[in-house]
Formats: sequence, structure tokens, C-alpha cells
Amino acid sequence: MQSLLDNIYQEVFPMLGQGKVADYIPALACVEPRQFGIAICDNEGNVYTVGDAEVPFSIQSISKVFNLVLAMNHYGDGLWDRVGCEPSGLPFNSLVQLEYENGIPRNPFINAGALVISDMNQSRFASPHLAVRDFVRRLSGNPEINANRIVADSEFEYRARNAATAYLMKAFNNFENEVEDVLHSYFYNCALEMSCADLARGASFLANRGYSQCAGEQILSPKQASQVNALLATSGMYNEAGSFAFQVGLPGKSGVGGGIIAMVPGRFSICVFSPALNHMGNSALGVAALTSLTKHIKWSVY
Ligand code: GLN
Repeated sequence: MQSLLDNIYQEVFPMLGQGKVADYIPALACVEPRQFGIAICDNEGNVYTVGDAEVPFSIQSISKVFNLVLAMNHYGDGLWDRVGCEPSGLPFNSLVQLEYENGIPRNPFINAGALVISDMNQSRFASPHLAVRDFVRRLSGNPEINANRIVADSEFEYRARNAATAYLMKAFNNFENEVEDVLHSYFYNCALEMSCADLARGASFLANRGYSQCAGEQILSPKQASQVNALLATSGMYNEAGSFAFQVGLPGKSGVGGGIIAMVPGRFSICVFSPALNHMGNSALGVAALTSLTKHIKWSVY
């Protein structure tokens, strides 16, 4: 496994310098672009790393996966009355479809969907903004995981589009709590900082029929774990989900902080981090590394 990682790293490293870091908030625009790390967590719980795999970074939209899993634990199938499971074919923060479709977001990985899920968690937990943080701490076995307050505050300052999205859903009666309260929790989740090693461990239950070796717990049923993987495969990579399936062929979720998690079900989870993004908003080296991975292992879910 270590030699697989080393090969991928060496193959992709010359691309360092390609892409552009997210600049929609100042706190992310100043991230050093020349970072690259990969971690794998296999289904026995062993972790392999290369490069900047221990550097914590802003997980951003990757938090949407943990947010969803937490809500699935508490709401079961009722959750799917409030959010769909179809790809949107539109940018992650688009509003147009939401109006046509009566305030029911297409899936939990576009912002509208993640906001509905955050609203559900807001109703369930005593300290809602800490629920996802505590969940990822447990899944990764790392009690030090925290949100970056500067990033969270900056997201809140530039909240207009997410606020509009949430208010539109409220107008359609698909939002229970105060919009601003839910936005605080949602941004706090996006601002969590985790390393590749944390994320590979944290997502490992999705490659292991719902069981987390690290937490020693069944997190989802095998059926729910495959449902999450199906959603990741169809909607996890923004507008690049189709070509990512075509090129890589693994369920995956990216974030604008430059991280991507992906699952090789039955074998291992992987996380790649490199902050410079391609024109679709996915980590340029991340996509290249995962392309190299499936080439080396000669396997994809398809
Ligand atoms: N915090 C970002 C937002 O809601 C999430 C960005 C992302 O990774 N797509 O706009």
C-alpha cells in the first residue's frame, strides 16, 4: 500500500503549481497553494501517508458527508422527504432549480441540500454547531479537531447566497429553525480543519459497509453506506461528477479547501489534499492523484 501511495505521489507531484486556490473569502485566499498530501485507511484500520498528509486544512463541503450521516442516524428514511437524491447539473450554490422544485433540494451535497440537513441536525442536538465536530472527532479518533473561527466568521460575513437559499426553502416550509442559527452551524462545519489522515480514518466506514474500525462502531447499516456512496458517485464532485465517474470511477466528495475523499468499497478510503483548484472547483492534483490511483489498482466501482 505504501508503495502505491509513493508511486501516485511521484507521478502527480510535477503538476504542483497548477490550479488556483479558492478566493471567495479572504481567509481561504491566503492558503499556500504548494501543498500536497495523501492518506489511505484500509479496512483493517491501518493508515498510510505521503507528503502533507498530517497538515490540517479547511474541509469545507466534505463536511456535508458527515452532516448527512449524522442526520441519517437520527431521521432514517424520513430524511428523504425533505431532500432528493438526484444530481443537480448546476453549480453547488445555484438557486434556480430550488424555486422550480418547490424548495426541495436535489441532493444533500449541493448547498441547499446541506442547509436542509443542517436544519434537521439543528432541531435534534443541544449544541447543534458542535454535533458534526464531535462526530468527526469520534470517527477519526482525533479529539483535537476544531473549526477555524476566522474562516467560519468570514463565511458568515459573506453569507448572502446561502442565506437566500435557506430563506427560499423556509418560504416553501422546508426549514424549521431560524436561518441565521442554522447558517452559523453550517459554516462552523465547513470551517472544520482536518488532515488527510483524519479524513481517511473518518470516512473509512463508507468503504467498510458502514463499520468504523477506528471508532469501533457500526455508523450506518451496510445498505445506508452503499446509498451514501451512490450519492457521492452521482453528486459528490460538483459539476465534475460525470467526468470524475468517467475518469476515476469512485464515490468521492470534494471541498473548496482542496480536499477530496474517495472510497474503494470493500478495501479502503483515501483522502488527497492540494489547495489549488481546477476550473470546476475540485483540487487539481486531487483529481489527478485519484485518476492515477484507479489506473494503478485497475479497479473502479463500475
Ligand atoms: N462554505 C462553502 C459555501 O457554503 C462551501 C464551499 C464548498 O466547498 N463548496 O459556500
